[in-house]
Amino acid sequence: MKEFDIAIIGSGPSGAMAAYHAAKKGKKVVIIEKEKLPRYKTCGGGLVYRGRINLPFSIEEVVEKEFYELEVFFEKSPHFFTAKRNEPIISMVMRDSFDQFLVNKALEQGAHIIEQTTMEGLVKSENGLLIKTSGGDIKCKYLIGADGALSQTAKFGGWKESRKLIPALEFEVKVPENDFIRLSKNVRFDVDAVPDGYAWCFPKNGHLSLGVCTLKKQRIDLKKYYKDYLKKLEIKEILESEVHGFQIPVGQRKDVFSKDRIFLSGDAAGFADPLTAEGISNAILSGELASKAIVNNFENEKAAANAYRQLLDQRILSELNSSTFIAFICYAQPAIRNMLLSKYGQKGCEILTDIFMGKKAFPDDLKNKIKKRVPLLKFI
Ligand SMILES: Cc1cc2nc3c(=O)[nH]c(=O)nc-3n(C[C@H](O)[C@H](O)[C@H](O)COP(=O)(O)OP(=O)(O)OC[C@H]3O[C@@H](n4cnc5c(N)ncnc54)[C@H](O)[C@@H]3O)c2cc1C
Repeated sequence: MKEFDIAIIGSGPSGAMAAYHAAKKGKKVVIIEKEKLPRYKTCGGGLVYRGRINLPFSIEEVVEKEFYELEVFFEKSPHFFTAKRNEPIISMVMRDSFDQFLVNKALEQGAHIIEQTTMEGLVKSENGLLIKTSGGDIKCKYLIGADGALSQTAKFGGWKESRKLIPALEFEVKVPENDFIRLSKNVRFDVDAVPDGYAWCFPKNGHLSLGVCTLKKQRIDLKKYYKDYLKKLEIKEILESEVHGFQIPVGQRKDVFSKDRIFLSGDAAGFADPLTAEGISNAILSGELASKAIVNNFENEKAAANAYRQLLDQRILSELNSSTFIAFICYAQPAIRNMLLSKYGQKGCEILTDIFMGKKAFPDDLKNKIKKRVPLLKFI
């Protein structure tokens, strides 16, 4: 039977970077991936700068476009904001080549990968774990569940669902040259183009990644809003189009992020940003943190779990809590949001851009600060 120090389920950015850091520290690591790589992943492929600078190597060769300016529009309101920086605020990647690139970096450090193999069960024992896969049993001391929004690791590990999952549609679209030239100059977000949500236009090499998502709980016809969005972008003709739907976990798990030597990272833990649904950067970071917590406390499972929680508290969770509150105001309280935008809109856009850049964190105690300025919110 194959035996490893650390097994990682999933070869997305979280799994690849968990493997990279653990293998670099000399651990015997395996990634188990159900697909054959490179595989398509439903995603806008917009990597914010804070995610890029958290990678310990250059990703230049898999970046399709870089944007130093972003545009945010608000439907049915005069608000429009733009922010510019000297470094790329958002880098565009296609996830098949980006994820493969990260996995290759992990393999260079000595990690192993087993592709086209699905995790199908888990047996816990005192000293380790036995993973049941479609390719046979694998033993490991620790397991990192980096298997995305539909995490089987969490299910087999005994977690109940407590994340907030939102639906999103992604369209990879070829348009006539004039439209492509016009729309590929900028990266744009259109808040309210979908009820309680937004649409995006991300230019890639030769095509556009267009998408729509909503934080609304009721069922919603996202395709209808996508059609409206095409009109808004003044796209009259589509030459080729591929649509993919998936879920984004924009609310972290409410109980724990590790138990019984099992650690959850990335989407499996629910670490996508609630305001922007941007999940790659926290997937990269949480993969690294899970790996560090395990490697530094390998002989003491409790210390590893505590270390992971502490690292998450310091680096991810307080940011997500602030972002959850801002997302609530942004999407569910449009009147209050518009009032705040008219007063602090550009300032807010600059602060958010600095957060994307990894240059700033959300201000401490943001919720109470906003509540003080908007008395209506004190009841929330
Ligand atoms: C429509 C859409 C648009 C998005 N746009 C953006 C964006 O522009 N920017 C951004 O930052 N984020 C975006 N996101 C979010 C982003 O895609 C995720 O947050 C990110 O991919 C999470 O990475 P991960 O490594 O945790 O999981 P994933 O990238 O989902 O990787 C999980 C891996 O686990 C494998 N796996 C799953 N189950 C098993 C199993 N049982 N056995 C073996 N392998 C398994 C899967 O095949 C997959 O390769 C978007 C998401 C959606 C749905």
